Amino acid sequence: MKMLINGKSIDKTEKIEVRNPTNNLIIDEVPLGSREDAKEAVFAANRAKKVMRDMSSRKISRILYDIHQELSPSLDEFAELITRETGKPIRDSKEEMRRSLQTILLSAEESKRIYGETIPMDAGIGGKNVLGFTVKLPVGVVSAITPFNYPVNLAIHKIAPALACKNTVVFKPSQKAPLAALKLAELMDVHLPPGALNALTGDGRIIGDEMVSNSLVNKISFTGSVATGVSISKKAGMKKLTLELGGNDPLVVLDDADIDKAVTATVRGSYLNAGQVCIAVKRIILQQGIADDFIAKLVTETKKLTMGDPLNPETDIGPLINEKAAIKVEKVVEEALNEGAELLCGGKRDGAFYEPTVLDQVSPSMKLVQEETFGPVSPIIQVKDVEEAFKVANDTDYGLQAGVFTESIDRAKKAVRMIEAGSVLINKQPTFRTDNMPFGGFKMSGMGKEGVKYAVEDMTRTKLVVIG
Ligand code: NAP
Repeated sequence: MKMLINGKSIDKTEKIEVRNPTNNLIIDEVPLGSREDAKEAVFAANRAKKVMRDMSSRKISRILYDIHQELSPSLDEFAELITRETGKPIRDSKEEMRRSLQTILLSAEESKRIYGETIPMDAGIGGKNVLGFTVKLPVGVVSAITPFNYPVNLAIHKIAPALACKNTVVFKPSQKAPLAALKLAELMDVHLPPGALNALTGDGRIIGDEMVSNSLVNKISFTGSVATGVSISKKAGMKKLTLELGGNDPLVVLDDADIDKAVTATVRGSYLNAGQVCIAVKRIILQQGIADDFIAKLVTETKKLTMGDPLNPETDIGPLINEKAAIKVEKVVEEALNEGAELLCGGKRDGAFYEPTVLDQVSPSMKLVQEETFGPVSPIIQVKDVEEAFKVANDTDYGLQAGVFTESIDRAKKAVRMIEAGSVLINKQPTFRTDNMPFGGFKMSGMGKEGVKYAVEDMTRTKLVVIG
């Protein structure tokens, strides 16, 4: 596959091998883009700004509908490619594609309702007989940088809203899983003016750096780890910035909860995409009293999961993105065991595969739960009461989403008040997102929101018009 700059396919002699994490075989290769390529892409996006800005809302909406229509019949083909390059179970890759299509539709709809507002100027001193209203304008060039774990939907969450409000885009997928996203960019480009969408492949520290620091870029929309997000924020300068970063989401189960529902939610939330989800359940906080019952059921349900070939529709858990990632999980679990955690099931690694693992007696200070563990691990922290549960939930630098299981409305309200997170979900795992909801974390989990309407808000500028 090739890069895309100014409407042209660009190849390079140097390549990046893309491997299937299931068997470590090479699937394909992509060009190793350079800083010069990134500069070219930014220039192209800058040149295309005028044609996009002058396009009618009706036209860009139509283009997004057309892209949706063209992509729809290829759902299975894209899903298979996602599974081959990431190891995500095919069932979940199909779900990602269904959501991606929906994100495009939401953007096509949103492009027709980008409203300003009328300002009651005469409410201020000197404003009598003055008419004031705002218009929403595109920011210009948007740099969109995405991680490996949801390669298509996370790309669409940036590209489609950016186009919906008439911006141009320079896009860079993760070099660990660039194929489906590049294929998507190729498909979209046919419908767009040259340079409106550019797609680069290569090392984030080089081309990503250029996309972040180039002064022609007006807005950076980044999804990825906290470390990369922090380094981007230092280089961004006077650019609008959206950072969707890592999570360390708690699922709190209080002693009045519906245990069966909480267990089902935990299994879904801990092991989806082998735990490689920003909003995966990464800490299970159990109130003593229900702990034994919950743990017994969680272990039973965890043992029922099938790990194996992600292309098999029956598979629940595939490999992690690569062996290095699985070794990292193995090490942090071993460290927790050495510090007193108790292994209840799982805990073994085979290449890039890591078994779904339940650990009890985890202390809130262990690295396993202080940092983001990106793997299929359910660490259990037991607490004595509601106050301690919410205190432990907040005892991390992250604050993406949080789930709380309780049958008490008072406790639910207290959770909403006390928990520091971008979303608090009652009787639902934090591993939940609809593509129209405002999504984005507090604390080190990021700044700004995505979810089409909210992304559009962050990708536009407000101009005030005053008529005397
Ligand atoms: P990552 O290592 O931070 O990489 C993300 C992207 O940033 C990749 O495209 C990467 O390029 C690029 N990059 C690396 N260094 C850069 C730099 N100096 N300047 C600009 N770009 C740079 O993250 P990952 O391991 O792919 O993804 C996992 C992380 O993403 C987890 O922490 C997860 O929680 C988070 N995530 C957050 C959300 C959310 O919505 N909050 C959603 C999904 C994932 P290359 O890797 O290609 O070099």
